[in-house]
Amino acid sequence: GPRVGVLALQGDVREHLAVLTTLGADAQPVRRPEELAAVEGLVLPGGESSVIDKLARAFGLFDPIRQAITDGMPMYGTCAGLILLADRIDGAIAGQRTFGGIDARVTRNAFGSQTQSFETDLEVPALGSPPVHAVFIRAPAVVEWGPDAEPLASLPDGRVVAIEQGALLGTAFHPESTGETRFHERFLHRVRNRRGAGRVAP
Ligand code: GLN
Repeated sequence: GPRVGVLALQGDVREHLAVLTTLGADAQPVRRPEELAAVEGLVLPGGESSVIDKLARAFGLFDPIRQAITDGMPMYGTCAGLILLADRIDGAIAGQRTFGGIDARVTRNAFGSQTQSFETDLEVPALGSPPVHAVFIRAPAVVEWGPDAEPLASLPDGRVVAIEQGALLGTAFHPESTGETRFHERFLHRVRNRRGAGRVAP
């Protein structure tokens, strides 16, 4: 299977490695630039986006990940990972940055202190049926997006909780913890397609 990485600085790394392995990928934790250079796609896990941001800079991964995004490497971010893929964030901790790549504005901890955690069944037309059983944990929501970003799912209040742009995919919820594999399959499909297409010389 394709060799893919899970950014392994903080967060629910194991769960993603398990899903990707189940789907036949050669999934490896990524903590160093050399490890990033050895994979064809990257998953950004749930966790705490400001901590992952800080650690990415400390481990010398921040600029290489940005470059990989620019180069078109497929990535899939869940929850904190979605925040890290968004160009703009509300509720950032002082100095917090994102890798960016999805032309969208994401609100951190969008569901307030009363309902930091909830579950719902979500229609995701791009994935067909059945609906996705989505678990939100101190989750973000996409509140604004540009013409190149495509919402894949929204809540009844209109806030977007799954979105993609080019090779980048993000969900505000955690499929890796519910046995839902279709988002990871979509990500792996991108990785395989890109491999088949080969690299285009500049
Ligand atoms: N609230 C976290 C953040 O802002 C995300 C929570 C999660 O990944 N489960 O980074």
